[in-house]
Amino acid sequence: MLTLFLVIPCYNEEEVLPQTAQTLRDKMRGLMADKRIGKESKIVFVNDGSKDRTWEMIEKLHKVDPLFRGISLSRNRGHQNALLAGLMTVKDECDAAISLDADLQDDVNAIDEMIEKYEAGYEIVYGVRSSRKKDSFFKRSTAQGFYRLMSLLGAETVYNHADFRLMSARALDALEEFKEVNLFLRGIVPMVGFQSACVYYERGERTAGESKYPLKKMLGLAFEGITSLSIKPIRLIAISGALIFLVSIVMLIYSLIRHLAGHTVSGWTSLAVSIWALGGIQLLSLGVIGEYVGKVYLETKQRPRYIIEQYLK
Ligand code: UDP
Ligand code: MG
Repeated sequence: MLTLFLVIPCYNEEEVLPQTAQTLRDKMRGLMADKRIGKESKIVFVNDGSKDRTWEMIEKLHKVDPLFRGISLSRNRGHQNALLAGLMTVKDECDAAISLDADLQDDVNAIDEMIEKYEAGYEIVYGVRSSRKKDSFFKRSTAQGFYRLMSLLGAETVYNHADFRLMSARALDALEEFKEVNLFLRGIVPMVGFQSACVYYERGERTAGESKYPLKKMLGLAFEGITSLSIKPIRLIAISGALIFLVSIVMLIYSLIRHLAGHTVSGWTSLAVSIWALGGIQLLSLGVIGEYVGKVYLETKQRPRYIIEQYLK
């Protein structure tokens, strides 16, 4: 029978953890009773360097019920790294792993359908939000803008899919081959390939606590996604440079004609404007290129993406 592991990254989640653990335990027990998954299935919480009582709570859950396991990272490494740490740690012990958020905004009842798809031969099953009615206007519009921008820039992502997905052990083995430090799983997983399917669900509200993704982290993730999946921004800079060069040739011819016709006026305004405009574009372009150079720098260092301090099996 299918050995299914749930992997849940947790950062300062003491407020939701009791309820999440309860809900997931009921779900897993139900699936076991229905003989959908084997008795060896586990719920694995990954503590991403939380500063509150999250880890103590995970330790306690593990002590009381062997269904729960805990992995503690040596420090906060961010959602994507924590998730990868969990998946890579469990992949040799399970047939398939499902990743989901600690706040249970992802509908756990979609797990049934994910299992069905897995059994029908799909190696990766994406959980896709059918609507975002429950998200705040701000979250909804920024997130949708982000997905649009991503596809505009040519990065392949699954629209409205976050990190709620099932991956088979085989797909996880393949994922391990992607060694990048700049991690954006939503963009890498589609590159893994294999037979994949989508499962649709309504995204709920966070059950307790507040979002661990403030605007700064959200922008960071978006930026990571774009720069690790697409080199279009660099190309756009090159194109805009070429266009500006063309304009400057036109301007040169124009000003020569004006000069020869004897209309030399002190063109302070146009000069000032173009200095600012060009200066701005140059700085922006340098910044974008610098961003990519920075990525190369980080990748060449090959630092570990996470360090596991403790694994409660
Ligand atoms: N998370 C994490 N490390 C971080 C930030 C977040 O492991 O540095 C986890 C968090 O505990 C949760 C998931 O990532 O399980 C998604 O975070 P959240 O629900 O706060 O994001 P939102 O739903 O608001 O986008
Ligand atoms: Mg959430």
